Amino acid sequence: MIPGGQTLGVLGGGQLGLFFVLAAQRHGYPVWVLDPDPHCPAARTAARHLCAPLDDPVALEEFTRGVAAITVESENIPAATLAHCAAWMRPGPEAVRIAQDRCLEKSFLRDLDLPVAPFIALDAGTPLPPVTDDFPFPALLKTARWGYDGKGQETVVRAEDLAAAWQTLGAVDAVLEARVDLAAEFSILLARGEDGMVVFYPAAHNYHRDGILDLTLVCATEPTAVEAEARHMALRIAEALDYIGVLAVEFFVDGHGEILINELAPRPHNSGHFSLDASIHSQFDQQLRCLCGLPLGDTRLLSPVAMMNLLGDLWNPQEPDWSSILEHPQTKLWLYGKREARPRRKMGHLTILPEHSHAIAKTVAALRRSLALPDLPPLGFLPECADPGLLPTAPHRPEHE
Ligand code: AMP
Repeated sequence: MIPGGQTLGVLGGGQLGLFFVLAAQRHGYPVWVLDPDPHCPAARTAARHLCAPLDDPVALEEFTRGVAAITVESENIPAATLAHCAAWMRPGPEAVRIAQDRCLEKSFLRDLDLPVAPFIALDAGTPLPPVTDDFPFPALLKTARWGYDGKGQETVVRAEDLAAAWQTLGAVDAVLEARVDLAAEFSILLARGEDGMVVFYPAAHNYHRDGILDLTLVCATEPTAVEAEARHMALRIAEALDYIGVLAVEFFVDGHGEILINELAPRPHNSGHFSLDASIHSQFDQQLRCLCGLPLGDTRLLSPVAMMNLLGDLWNPQEPDWSSILEHPQTKLWLYGKREARPRRKMGHLTILPEHSHAIAKTVAALRRSLALPDLPPLGFLPECADPGLLPTAPHRPEHE
C-alpha cells in the first residue's frame, strides 16, 4: 500500500489527468504530471508539471525518480515510455499496449472467444490482404493506432474501394471492420484491485454524434440480461490481463440484440464522468485506490444521471453564455480550462441529476435547446429507468479466485 503523502505520477495531463489529480489531492497525495502541453488541464492543479514529450528520456528519468507509482490518462503511450515506467505502472504496460492498437486489441478479444465485429488486419508495407466474398460491406477502415472519437476512420462501401481508403489513411497499420447495424451502445466500467476484488458501475448508455460521445445516461436499475452478460465479458478481460485499475469496455448492441465489443480503455472513460457527481466514489477515486493498493470504493449510484459533453463547436464565435444552464439547479457544469476551443474538442461536460428519472429526457432536451444543439434520436433503446434505488454493487470477489 502506498500511504498518503507519497507522490504519484500520471502520464498525460488532459481532463482525465486533471480529475485524477483532484481525486489524489483530496486523499493527500501530490501528483506529478508528464505532458508536452504547457497549458494542459492538469498542469494548474498538479504538484509538478514535467512539460516534455511522453518519451523524453531525461523527463522520464526524473519522473520515475520522483514518484511512487504511475497511472495513465490515455492508452496512447509510446513503447519506450511503457518500458521505462513498467515497474511503477498500474494498469501494467501490457494492457496499455493491447488497448492502443486496434489489431492487437481485436485479436486479444477474439482469442478470448469474445464477440467482436468481423475484421481484417492491414499491415503497413505489405500488400492488401485478400477480402473474402463473405466479408460484410459497407465497412469501416480504422487506423490501428492514434485514432479516437471517430478520427482516423474511412467508410469503405465496397471491396474495390479498400485500396483507395487505405491510401487516404496513409497506408498505415489499420483494421477493416464490418459496420454494425447499431441499435444501442453502452459501456461497462469496472475497477479491479491488486487482490482481484472487482466493482462494477451501472452500465452507461451512450449516444454518439459524428463518432464522438454526446450523451450518457445511467440509472440504478438491476443489470439487464444483456448488461449482466457484458459485465461477465469485462470481468474475463480484466482477469486475462491480471488488470489493476479502472477498465472501460465499450459495447455495441446490434439489430438482433446481440452484443459485440467495440474497444477497451485501460483508464477512466468519458462515459464514466457521471460518477464524479452521481456515485459514492467516482471512477477517479477508484483509479487512485487501485494505484495505491487501497480498498475499492462503493460504486452505488446516488441519483439517475445524464452526462452531456460540451465540444469546442459550441465556442462559436466565443464561449457560450452559461446562464441558461446555471438556471437548472440540478445541472452541474464542468469546464476543463482548455485555452483553445477547436471543433470536436472536449471542453467540458454537464451532469444532470434530476429528482426523478423520468425527468431526464425533458431536462436534456431543454438544455440542448438552450445551447442550440440538435435533438438526439428518441432515447427509445434505454432500459426503463427506475427511480433512484441503490444497486447492490459492493465489491465482489470472482468465485474462482
Ligand atoms: P471508435 O472510435 O471506434 O470507438 O468509434 C466511435 C463511434 O463510431 C462508435 O462509438 C460508434 O458510434 C461508431 N462506430 C465505430 N465503429 C463502428 C462499427 N463497426 N459499426 C457501427 N458504428 C461504429
